[in-house]
Amino acid sequence: ICWSERGGWHRPRVQPYGPIALDPSAAVLHYGQEIFEGLKAYRHADGSIWGFRPDANARRLQRSARRMALPELPTEHFLESIRRLIAVDGDWVPSAPETSLYLRPFMFAKEAFLGVRPANKVNYYVIASPAGAYFSGGVSPVSIWLSTEYSRAGKGGTGAAKTGGNYAASLVAQAEAAEHGCQQVLFLDSVEGVWLEELGGMNVVLVRKDGTLITPHSDSILEGITRDSILQLAEDRGHRVERRQVSLQEWRDGVASGDIVEAFACGTAAVVTPIGLLKGVVDGESFEIGSADAAPGALTMSLREELTDIQYGRRPDPHGWMLRLDA
Ligand code: PMP
Repeated sequence: ICWSERGGWHRPRVQPYGPIALDPSAAVLHYGQEIFEGLKAYRHADGSIWGFRPDANARRLQRSARRMALPELPTEHFLESIRRLIAVDGDWVPSAPETSLYLRPFMFAKEAFLGVRPANKVNYYVIASPAGAYFSGGVSPVSIWLSTEYSRAGKGGTGAAKTGGNYAASLVAQAEAAEHGCQQVLFLDSVEGVWLEELGGMNVVLVRKDGTLITPHSDSILEGITRDSILQLAEDRGHRVERRQVSLQEWRDGVASGDIVEAFACGTAAVVTPIGLLKGVVDGESFEIGSADAAPGALTMSLREELTDIQYGRRPDPHGWMLRLDA
């Protein structure tokens, strides 16, 4: 779909996947004025195709648009874009266990000019790609590297928007994590450097012995739709949920005293991943909590199972999260 200041949203169409032409002066190539989303469509046992909370992705894309001076795509257009793509070929949505169709809606400044200002010509696309099971040999814990040199987003910055620059900023930290044998990087806040923020592409939740779930509240992290859903399911079961500032120290002390018994990361791609090991260097001293081969926590795994059962239509959907996409 195209957008221009004069014409609004126009020219919705489905076209074969392939390169797109961009003017070398297109604003996105210079100033990074772009936003995106990530969500999945699931095939249920009767063959029908369902999206998980696509309206929440539409609203988050609108919030990202406001922050990045892009036009807001109305929710109806967002949902219609996904439906039309799926209507072209429903076979795209795989049916093997734990597979899905990953959808990547994105919007960028296409207008060609060299000054710095919001673009008056914008394109919105959705691409789709079948996704295999994230964990092929059973759910395994992730090891995390604490980044103290880099932050992903600053106060008043774009951390709460899903925009490419945040991910570009996390690449060197991600590489550093890999050098330390970790698959993910954990960021702290950019002001005091003591509060937990999020991983490169997932939110973090800690579980206390009494069943309370704690998750960082911050203006500079991406509000994950998976996290919101998992915490809702936990609340439904009577668990207490605290959305507040959480310090790295609280996590370390909680693990040391036995009060924090599980930790997990969550996001669309992996749904819920147990955190096995966290390591890093604080005040010149190396530390480690947990272990890379720790057994996944019981609550982590049962919340994961409940959410994936809802997504695959294996149990009732009490919150009306699933939206039929092929009818
Ligand atoms: N934080 C970041 C930085 C992410 O990229 C993602 C993945 N979109 C998340 C959190 C989790 O969000 P969601 O559950 O909506 O996928």
